[in-house]
Amino acid sequence: MKYDVLLPYFLKYVQINSRSDEHADRFPSTQRQVDFQRVIMADLAEIGVTDVHYNQKSAAVIADIPANVAEKVPTIGFIAHCDTADFESEHVKPQVHKNYDGHSKIQLGDSEFYLDPAVFPNLKNYEGQTIITASGDTLLGGDDKCGCSELMTFVKYLVDHPEVKHGRIRLAFTPDEEIGTGTQKFDVADFDADFAFTVDGEAPGKLDWGTFSAAEFTLDIQGVNVHPAVAKGQMVSAVKLGIAFQNGLPKDEDPEHTDGLEGFYHLLSFNGTVDNAHMEYIIRDFERDGLERRKQVVKDLVAKMNEEQGVKRLTLNMHDQYYNMADELKKHMEIIDLARQAYRDEGLTINEDPVRGGTDGSTLTFMGLPCPNLFAGEENMHGRYEYTVLESMEKAVDVLIRIAELNYQQNK
Ligand SMILES: [Zn+2]
Repeated sequence: MKYDVLLPYFLKYVQINSRSDEHADRFPSTQRQVDFQRVIMADLAEIGVTDVHYNQKSAAVIADIPANVAEKVPTIGFIAHCDTADFESEHVKPQVHKNYDGHSKIQLGDSEFYLDPAVFPNLKNYEGQTIITASGDTLLGGDDKCGCSELMTFVKYLVDHPEVKHGRIRLAFTPDEEIGTGTQKFDVADFDADFAFTVDGEAPGKLDWGTFSAAEFTLDIQGVNVHPAVAKGQMVSAVKLGIAFQNGLPKDEDPEHTDGLEGFYHLLSFNGTVDNAHMEYIIRDFERDGLERRKQVVKDLVAKMNEEQGVKRLTLNMHDQYYNMADELKKHMEIIDLARQAYRDEGLTINEDPVRGGTDGSTLTFMGLPCPNLFAGEENMHGRYEYTVLESMEKAVDVLIRIAELNYQQNK
C-alpha cells in the first residue's frame, strides 16, 4: 500500500458519528463534530505537528506545517469538513472490498442493498481496486472523511519526508459544511493562507472552480377563510394562490428538467391551508446576471399577483446565498493552473465541469480566500450507496504533495 496510514485513518474516522444538524440553533450545530475534531487534533499531535489550535470563532481546527525552505513562497491552505450529511450516521460499519472485478454487484454488508454497476456505472472504472462501502443501513461518510484522512496522510508524509521541499502550509478542519453554514464564520485572518483548496470532491481528475450563484426565498400567503356555504365572492384560498404562483414561474426551469449550465427555480416545500400558506424556494444560475434576472421574475410575479388581488396577500423574503466562485477565481488563474499542473503530473485527465451546487470554497473565495475544490474520491455522496476507492484517495494525496512541491518550485 502506498500510504500505510491512509486506510486506517479513513476507517477510524468514518466510524465516528459527526453528522451536522440543520435544525440546531448552536454553532457548530452538533457537539459530536467537536468530539471528532478532538480526535483530529490528537492525531495531528501524534504525527508531530506542534502548532495546532481550535479557532473558537470558526469552530475549526487549524494546523500549521512550517516551511522547510528559506525562500518565501505563497502559503497554501487545505481544508476538509468534519461533518457528514443528513442520513443515518450512527454505527457506520465500513466494508473493504479488495480487488473489485469491475462488473459484479457489491453487497452492502449483509443488507438487501447492492452497489450495482448497471445503476452506478462509475464502478466499472475501478477494476482491480479497493472499494469501501457502508453496510446498507448508514451512509459511509466519505464526504468528507475522505478529505480529512487524505489531509492527515499528506501531513504525515511531509513530516516523514523532509526531502519534499515546500513553503508554509495551513490546514483547516471545519464544521457544518453540509448545512451550508460552516464557513460563514471562518476566520480568514487567523488561517493566514494566500489561497486554499477544499479537499471534498468526486472522482480523480475532478477540479471544481465553477459553482452556481444562489439565492433563496420564502413566500407567505394570506388568504381569506370563510365557511364554504357562503364563500362565493369572499373566500380567497392561500393554497390556490400558491399553486398559481408556482404555475406562473417559467415552465420546466426546475431541477428535474435542467442540467449542464442551465439554472432553475426549485420549490423546496409548500405548506398551506385556505387561510395561509408558506412556500420555500431556491434559485440557481451559473451567471450572476442570470441569477438577478430570475430574482426579478419572482419579484414581478409577486407584484402582479398582489395587484390582481387588489391587496397585498403575498409577502416575499429573498436573499442571496453564495455566488459562482469562478467570477472571482478568474482573477487568480495561477491557482487553477497550479492544480491543473499537479493533476497532469499525476497522470490524471482533468474534468472541470461546473458544480451544480455550491462549495465551502464559494463562500471562502468571496471572503477573500481564493479556494477551488480538489477531488477526494467521493462517490454517490449523502446516502447508503456512498462509496470510495482507496486508490482514488491515494491519488488525492499524491496531488496534495505535488501541489506543495510545485508551489515551491514555481515561486522560489
Ligand atoms: Zn462534502
